[in-house]
Amino acid sequence: MSRTCKYCGNVLEDGDNFCQKCGAVADAVQDSAPGMAAQANQTANNNFNNQQVNSGYQGKTSGIAIGGFVCSLIGFWVFGIILGIVAISLGAAALNHMKTFPEEKGKGLAIAAIVIGIIDIVGAILVNAVINSLF
Ligand SMILES: [Zn+2]
Repeated sequence: MSRTCKYCGNVLEDGDNFCQKCGAVADAVQDSAPGMAAQANQTANNNFNNQQVNSGYQGKTSGIAIGGFVCSLIGFWVFGIILGIVAISLGAAALNHMKTFPEEKGKGLAIAAIVIGIIDIVGAILVNAVINSLF
């Protein structure tokens, strides 16, 4: 008699205690008290959530780094000082976050955000100085 996993529908071998696909406890799911089944259900859900979190983080580009980079680019044209400061802050925050999550991508973007943010601020100050000297 072949059984199927209650959670993912994977066909289980007769000897299997766990679903090979999602890791749910096969026996607890099959023929035990509702309380046990609920517990197994929760375990399976936890496994599923962990997998989602892990695969979600794998190679994901840091949104903070992207935000900082975009701010630094916009700051090149308008609000250089304000957006420059924002870009540097976001870039630094992204780099700091990557210390905790080394698999996160976007280090180049974060560094670019900081560098361009500094250029934004210096550029904005220079443009101000030039304009002030003209009038
Ligand atoms: Zn399964």
